[in-house]
Amino acid sequence: MASATTFVCPECDFEALHWSDGNPYYCDPDGTRHHVYHPSPRSYGPLDGNDPSLLCTACGQKLIGEVNDFSAGCPKCGSMSLVETRDLDGITCPACKRGTLRVDPTKMRIS
Ligand SMILES: [Zn+2]
Ligand SMILES: [Zn+2]
Repeated sequence: MASATTFVCPECDFEALHWSDGNPYYCDPDGTRHHVYHPSPRSYGPLDGNDPSLLCTACGQKLIGEVNDFSAGCPKCGSMSLVETRDLDGITCPACKRGTLRVDPTKMRIS
């Protein structure tokens, strides 16, 4: 069971989802990560780890991984302003730069 929080911008139609269970993954013997999502039977394990979702607050690019995995910054725009999606409340909207992202309680989702 996973739930998603939706952050929305009141000034434009930008929205970003945060899933409570992140992005679980298992590794091949060579270390390649494979992310698994509901309702994949693989999501019931065994799993090797869990990556957070990130949002680039400069360009709005959505990324999967630890902030440390992107030591060179956002792959799209090079910004270092990467924020975990659980921390988006109150962030300036990356799309219009005017609105402030807020949780939309009408868009809670369950998977
Ligand atoms: Zn970016
Ligand atoms: Zn906006």
